[in-house]
Amino acid sequence: MFKKDFTYFENSDIVYLDNAATTQKPKSVVASQVEYYEKYCANTHRSNFGDANKATQNYENARKVLKEFINAKNKEEIIFTKGVTESINFIASSYAKDFKTIIISSLEHHSNIVPWHLQGRSLGKGLEVVKYNKNLDFDIEHFEELLKENPKSFVSITHISNAFGKIHNIKEIISLAHKYEAVVMIDGAQSLAHTRVDMQDLDVDFFAISGHKTFAPTGVGAIYIKEKYLKSVKAYQTGGATIDQVDFNSSTLLDAPYKFEAGTQNIAGIIGFGEALEYLNHVGYENIELIEKDVFNYLNQELEKLPNIIFYNDISDSIGSRSFNFEGLIHDDIGILVDKMKIALRVGHHCAQPIMKDLNIKGTIRVSISFYNDYSDVDKLIVALKRALKMLE
Ligand code: PLP
Repeated sequence: MFKKDFTYFENSDIVYLDNAATTQKPKSVVASQVEYYEKYCANTHRSNFGDANKATQNYENARKVLKEFINAKNKEEIIFTKGVTESINFIASSYAKDFKTIIISSLEHHSNIVPWHLQGRSLGKGLEVVKYNKNLDFDIEHFEELLKENPKSFVSITHISNAFGKIHNIKEIISLAHKYEAVVMIDGAQSLAHTRVDMQDLDVDFFAISGHKTFAPTGVGAIYIKEKYLKSVKAYQTGGATIDQVDFNSSTLLDAPYKFEAGTQNIAGIIGFGEALEYLNHVGYENIELIEKDVFNYLNQELEKLPNIIFYNDISDSIGSRSFNFEGLIHDDIGILVDKMKIALRVGHHCAQPIMKDLNIKGTIRVSISFYNDYSDVDKLIVALKRALKMLE
């Protein structure tokens, strides 16, 4: 129903089921890029001529749109970055670096593991990992034990696992963490494409957002920083556009958000990000959630009929992504075969090697849907999987 809004689907007969890696871009988003480059290409927040002012205005409008979209209290809390990876690296290397203990979950993406390793942290040495129960459920009791043993920690946890689609109850996690005076960052890379998040309702301290997984261009994202931290968070890079006064001895920085947005930003991308959110407002989360639930259930129902399929979690508390293997078969082989049948999905560890190692597997076959996918995509996938299984018999 919504494929008509995406030129990609007019140009391609691929069944696109790799939405957790990146989403397709609506026509309005692509048009906003072209318009910026063709009609008013200029730098922001510097020059004072017509096109430069228009670029600044549209860039700042994207900030306002995102602020409203996630119900932040004010627009200074929105800092544009390259994506979730940069957002997490920023906070890890500035505000969070002096915390004695960082607590993460077992389902983290490498982007929320490796930045902590860079600080010399490892399991039990400045880094703690919350266990999971069967069905990959977050072990809330273990989390509380860790918080009790390590009060005033920095908690950095994913909202939705890209590898398994598992949703963490972040509201509960945040409120429990706050009880033990912890500060919480949520990796929201997979969130906005599927479900509404409300910064004030969650009472979250930091929330990392990916543009390209939310129908926006690549190379853009954001970090939400709760107002009360805006002064204490130090910039981790500086340069043009971040400063108030500079001489050869010292410099003073602007207030947030500008002190954090060093150098010329991905202006077209950020304008496109705003456009993508406007498009999502137009589609509406009520529709997105309804369609995705329906297609996700259908996908699961059809997958379950395939012989020797292995799942690692059931679909309760899951959204977007379904991961599986076939007994005795190598996931890479399936990936190669279905690619030849024009099915785009991802096989491998999905940048989540620790959980794969824990489950004693090298990786999975992951099908990840968006609201533009429909039953016919699932049907084509199933036909391709059946053919691949037959070939590998
Ligand atoms: N965290 C999760 C859960 C992800 O799925 C991804 C991307 O796959 C990232 C972080 C990295 O996001 P980005 O590509 O915006 O840097």
